[in-house]
Amino acid sequence: MIELIDVTKVYAGGVTALGGVSLRIARGELVAVTGPSGSGKSTMLHVLGTLDRPSSGRVRIDGYDTGSLTDGALSALRAGRIGFVFQQFHLASGTTALENVADGLLYCGLRPAERRRRAAAALVRVGLGHRLDHEPHALSGGERQRVAIARAVAGEPSLLLADEPTGALDSRSGTEVMELLRELNRAGTTVVIITHDREIAGSFPRRISMRDGRVAGHPAAGAEHPGALR
Ligand code: ADP
Ligand code: MG
Repeated sequence: MIELIDVTKVYAGGVTALGGVSLRIARGELVAVTGPSGSGKSTMLHVLGTLDRPSSGRVRIDGYDTGSLTDGALSALRAGRIGFVFQQFHLASGTTALENVADGLLYCGLRPAERRRRAAAALVRVGLGHRLDHEPHALSGGERQRVAIARAVAGEPSLLLADEPTGALDSRSGTEVMELLRELNRAGTTVVIITHDREIAGSFPRRISMRDGRVAGHPAAGAEHPGALR
């Protein structure tokens, strides 16, 4: 489903955030990405989710070589297949949970009424059917993150990427959010989660550990044996 082949990312200013990452993620996997702060986890997730292009190397999503796609084609690919959840929720304040989720469907080519219908269904799915008209300030941290998850999955993406989704939550809300993400995975969505929490990571069927911009244990990750990284 996703393949990174010898991907590097050098930011303006010369920081090498990714120094040659190769890996494959299959449809339906549940993957934890771990590693110290600054090891390139977020950069890898952004590149993997096509929010950012690599400096070199290839990113393949569902068979598409993303390097050969225009920005417009890449946005369309992303809108239809990939959902994102971030530590700080990134909800619009002053607008309801329903509108926040419905606005996430703006690029799917749906009519407003259909967007709202799907948004409501997604909020019911994350257990917030009773909070449709609440604005973010009137929701707890855990509820805000569940709105963000509803927004991420309303378009029924096959891939869900989460960057420290429990990092801003108390442990009970964090557990609930993690359980929700697992449930989405059980229902068929491929889920990749960056987490600092060793206990959470330890309970995942697969872990990718990053260090200094590389997948730890695979310092010279070659594109010829990506299966060996599993
Ligand atoms: P992590 O998520 O593991 O903490 P990041 O991927 O955020 O790591 O960052 C990896 C490295 O790239 C760090 O040294 C960070 O300072 C640097 N970096 C991240 N984003 C940018 C950026 N937009 N511009 C320049 N350097 C960046
Ligand atoms: Mg990060």
